[in-house]
Amino acid sequence: MKLLISEKEIETKVKQLAEEISSDYTGKTPILIGVLNGSFIFMADLVRELSIDCEVDFIKLHSYTGTRSGGTVHLLKDISADITERDVIIVEDIVDTGLTMKFFKERLEGAHPSSLSIVTLLFKKEVAQLNFNIDYIGFEIPSDYVVGYGLDYNQKKRNLKGIYVFNQDDGGNK
Ligand code: 5GP
Repeated sequence: MKLLISEKEIETKVKQLAEEISSDYTGKTPILIGVLNGSFIFMADLVRELSIDCEVDFIKLHSYTGTRSGGTVHLLKDISADITERDVIIVEDIVDTGLTMKFFKERLEGAHPSSLSIVTLLFKKEVAQLNFNIDYIGFEIPSDYVVGYGLDYNQKKRNLKGIYVFNQDDGGNK
C-alpha cells in the first residue's frame, strides 16, 4: 500500500479544523454526530482539539461492500440524541459520491436542528456529485480507495495511523 497522508499531516489538519470549528461555534455547544464505523478515530481526535463545549453521538450507515458503493444507503443504528433546535455538526471520515451524506443530511434536517454543518476529513472531489455545501474539508484526495485512520477494507486496516491507497491486487499488504 502507498502512503497518501502521514500521521503527522493528519494531526496538523485535525488541529486546524478544530480551531476553525471552535472559532465558528464560540458560545455554543454543538452536538457532533459521527458516521460509524469510519469516523470513530477522526471524531475522537477532533473533539479533543476543540476548545468549546460539545456533545457527541453516532449513527451507523452502510453503503459499501469491499471497495464498491452499493448505491443504496441502509440505516443500521440511529442517533439517540434529540437534535431539535440544536447546532449539529456531521462528522464524516470520507465523502466519495456524496450519497451517504445526502441521505444523512436530509434525515437530520427532518428533526429541525437550528443549524447543520458538515465536516469531512477526506473528500473525493472528482467523484462527488453534491447539491449541498461541505463546510469543513480536511484533504481533497484522488478517487482511489483508501484505508487507515478509521477507514476499512472489509472491516480491516482501520487501525493504521496514516491513510494509504489500497491496492486489492497485493491483498493490501503494507
Ligand atoms: P459515498 O456515499 O460518499 O459514496 O460514500 C461514503 C462512505 O463510503 C464513507 O462513509 C465510507 O464508509 C465509504 N467509502 C467511500 N470511499 C471510501 C474509500 O476510499 N475507502 C474506504 N475505506 N471507505 C470509503
